[in-house]
Amino acid sequence: MESTKRASGTTLTTGSTVPESGIYSVSHPKHNVPAEVTLVRNQTFPRCSRCDQPVFFELVRSAPALVNVHPSTFTVALYELPDLSINEEGAS
Ligand SMILES: [Zn+2]
Repeated sequence: MESTKRASGTTLTTGSTVPESGIYSVSHPKHNVPAEVTLVRNQTFPRCSRCDQPVFFELVRSAPALVNVHPSTFTVALYELPDLSINEEGAS
């Protein structure tokens, strides 16, 4: 079964390689993660900091110019998506 090659509707999830630099919408209903993130090509899609469930991403706007920025200036490398709904510390 090799029917995973599709021009559109590609599923981008945690652990996948970012195919294109740009702004990605984040889909992860379980936790209140950021709605959009900026990712650079060849990075790995970040995971949720709160669980091991996969996070889904969808390209909103490609921004190839991101790769032209000085590497020293553009050092946004997300590995985890914070849960924005966490207001209490040490609640367990
Ligand atoms: Zn989560």
